[in-house]
Amino acid sequence: MTLREGFVEELYADLVVIGSGPAGQKGAIQAAKLGKSVIIVDKDPHPGGASLNSGTIPSKSLREAILDLTDFYERSFYGQNRTIREISINDLNYRLNIVLDEQRKMLLRQFEKNHIRLIHGTARFQDKNHVVVLDESQRASCRITADYFLIATGSKPRNPTNVPFDNDKILDSTRLLSIDHVPKTLLVLGGGIIGAEYASFFAALGTEVTVIDKRDHLLPLLDTEIGMHLQKALTAIGLKVVGNKEPESIRRVNDHVEVTFKDGGKMQAEMLLYALGREARVDKMQIENVGIAVDKSGYIPVNALFQTVVPNIYAAGDVIGGPALASTSMEQGRLAARHAFGAQTHHFPSFYPIGIYTIPEISSCGYTENQLKELGFRYEIGRAYYYEIARNQIVGNDPGMFKILFHAETLEILGIHIIGRAATEVIHIGQVAMSFNARIDYFIDQVFNYPTYAEGYRIAALNGFNKVKHKK
Ligand SMILES: Cc1cc2nc3c(=O)[nH]c(=O)nc-3n(C[C@H](O)[C@H](O)[C@H](O)COP(=O)(O)OP(=O)(O)OC[C@H]3O[C@@H](n4cnc5c(N)ncnc54)[C@H](O)[C@@H]3O)c2cc1C
Repeated sequence: MTLREGFVEELYADLVVIGSGPAGQKGAIQAAKLGKSVIIVDKDPHPGGASLNSGTIPSKSLREAILDLTDFYERSFYGQNRTIREISINDLNYRLNIVLDEQRKMLLRQFEKNHIRLIHGTARFQDKNHVVVLDESQRASCRITADYFLIATGSKPRNPTNVPFDNDKILDSTRLLSIDHVPKTLLVLGGGIIGAEYASFFAALGTEVTVIDKRDHLLPLLDTEIGMHLQKALTAIGLKVVGNKEPESIRRVNDHVEVTFKDGGKMQAEMLLYALGREARVDKMQIENVGIAVDKSGYIPVNALFQTVVPNIYAAGDVIGGPALASTSMEQGRLAARHAFGAQTHHFPSFYPIGIYTIPEISSCGYTENQLKELGFRYEIGRAYYYEIARNQIVGNDPGMFKILFHAETLEILGIHIIGRAATEVIHIGQVAMSFNARIDYFIDQVFNYPTYAEGYRIAALNGFNKVKHKK
């Protein structure tokens, strides 16, 4: 590559991290903690990646703001139709901006404390030990020599060229954050995690929401029973799901968006959220200069230690494909840095929790019931419904359930699935138990704080344990 004429700063670091999202942050901090010099390059003037700027933190902050401002949990006490004031985008953004501001400050403090240099610009590989950083006018601002690299460039919403995206009607999950009012009607294309989460947020706000998916139900990754529970809870807040439909074309018609489907049907709404997938962000990095190629899905292939085909270049986070969560990206980045610098490490855990922040929220860890059937396990199920949990009645009667799958003979816990308030928090109790190969009776022999949601573990364990006891 030819650099344009002019002064180009020459820098050196033990590790260069490309991307300051969760994978890059944790990889950089881990390397710094091991005494290594680290430079992070990010092309976004706001560090933090999709997680902080357009994904996890904004969506979860909006969710919480919506629940509070609409008095969502008060509805079970005071009626679904009690008058609530109209919530504006400004109300929501006010709170969101406070969170973003705090998170950004904290991130910069962490970089500073760990002597991590953050450079704004686009990183481009020259060879396996050099990247050039380009500024916004594509001029090289510096060249960095490093022993190791961590590619943590994340993902972006898939934007097919035949969809006329704009910033007010035809939206992806990033553009959605710039709308100036709450729509009366919203079509959501795609019933995956991002589509289902935003659909439920807008339904809670009072928008008439329809989710359209080519499958007949939302979130196929869920345990089927939990999925059915979700569908019921979403219907109760007014959300419609239309399955077995695929879009043919999308266009703007006056003040509305119109979708024509492959079956010839049409639907209109004030806004449309296109949530049909994301793709790895590998453009402009020129990974081909070092001999790295993406796989057929567009992701960078890595081994179990997060090394690419070039051993001193690691990749972690969304850029390597699923599970594509901030939580898993962080751990992948950390493990990559530990391996690069010879620190004792372990492999990425086979069981990790998945948190889905629909309203109601869902979290799971381990096998689903269908997976156990396919694998031929002899299993039993312990269930606890939220209406049995005192804490739930106190805070607002959210629908929900705990489902614990365990081996019918050894009693070992094989999967935990929770839907309902606090699911994404209490799942960790089960996750820890599973990581110690606990049996279902572990939850029976413990004392839990009362009244708490965690009590659901005990109720579900008793329910399941009694079934195997009576069978014997
Ligand atoms: C709407 C939404 C909600 C989500 N909710 C959750 C959730 O609740 N929980 C959860 O765990 N996960 C959630 N996720 C997923 C999570 O945001 C991602 O998994 C996570 O951000 C991936 O982290 P990353 O470090 O791989 O990449 P990113 O966070 O995408 O960061 C990549 C960074 O690399 C930079 N970059 C790219 N190319 C270059 C280059 N050539 N040079 C320099 N810099 C570059 C980008 O500017 C960006 O800052 C959500 C995602 C979305 C979109």
